[in-house]
Amino acid sequence: GFRALVLNASDDGKKITPEFKTLTPDDLPAGDVLVRVSHSTLNYKDGMILNGLGRLVRHYPHVPGVDFTGEVVSSSDDRYRAGDRVILTGWRVGESHWGGYAQMARVKADWLVPLPDGLTPAQAMAIGTAGFTSMLAVMALEEQGVSPQADGEVLVTGAAGGVGSVAVSILSHLGYQVVASTGRPENSDYLKHLGASGIVDRAELAAASTRPLLSERWLGAIDSVGSTTLAHVLAEMKYHGVVAACGLAGGPDLPATVLPFLLRGVRLIGIDSVMCPYDYRVKAWQRLVTDLPKTRLDEAMEIVALRDILPYGEKILKGEVRGRLVIDVEAC
Ligand code: NAP
Repeated sequence: GFRALVLNASDDGKKITPEFKTLTPDDLPAGDVLVRVSHSTLNYKDGMILNGLGRLVRHYPHVPGVDFTGEVVSSSDDRYRAGDRVILTGWRVGESHWGGYAQMARVKADWLVPLPDGLTPAQAMAIGTAGFTSMLAVMALEEQGVSPQADGEVLVTGAAGGVGSVAVSILSHLGYQVVASTGRPENSDYLKHLGASGIVDRAELAAASTRPLLSERWLGAIDSVGSTTLAHVLAEMKYHGVVAACGLAGGPDLPATVLPFLLRGVRLIGIDSVMCPYDYRVKAWQRLVTDLPKTRLDEAMEIVALRDILPYGEKILKGEVRGRLVIDVEAC
């Protein structure tokens, strides 16, 4: 048997109760590849799922954990063999399929990518969906022509969070001038250490903008907040500026006007990490090996035993987690 965190629902489906249990491989859902999981991580979405929010999980009992890394035990798919090290992020694993908060997982081969050389399993999970999303956002800015050589700054909102802190590290490593927006001024020094050259108070950007266009400030932006913040950022983009919209930590609405698009040619690019196709995934993981400094990654990572995860599920929803939590799944 192996240890797992299982979420049970009350009969009316309203109350979610977590339970640490011993399961056997026969309990796992169908799939082509059986993986011995060594590490997982805690994303904002995991916090929602641990607390039964967002109607993300429809069937209980459920094993959460959106991301995991581990070693293949057996595979009926030619692409993987016993002993291969793999990463899984997205594909609604941990939501509609059992996830990584268990010492074994059975999944579709299509969902896996090989652990790239140059990353330890813990580092891969310090990246996780959040850091993978940051890389996709940086690649989106590059594809739209935002370059470190251009004169101007790139804004990162929700900067002390998972997506934000990895985005700051990558952008600064690539030579961009990065400005970090945070609601937690106590993290300013940390963000400067990751490479931010300036800090903007979250409240300044979250205020509903009174005018559809504000003074031009940003060459590019990576936004994890949405809502009034994203609307404000759109209104502050320079001519032909590019915004990568990644998240909704401030809300899913977008109270904006189309004027930044029409008068400044601003481009708003959506970022989805969940269904990202295989070849592009592998490319993004390769970029993470080369463009995310390992020292910054190690500094942004805190390791938590799976048995101690539950309080962190509440903390991340309150915006109290800094950087990236890696879950040691063997410690359960
Ligand atoms: P996280 O670690 O909790 O980071 C979110 C950050 O947003 C917080 O650290 C905080 O940063 C800021 N924030 C929190 N509440 C806020 C509020 N009410 N108003 C303004 N700012 C607020 O979460 P994460 O894992 O990085 O995820 C960030 C967002 O991206 C989430 O909405 C998540 O669902 C989304 N996401 C999307 C994808 C995708 O594929 N598109 C993938 C991963 C995550 P400061 O303290 O620095 O202000």
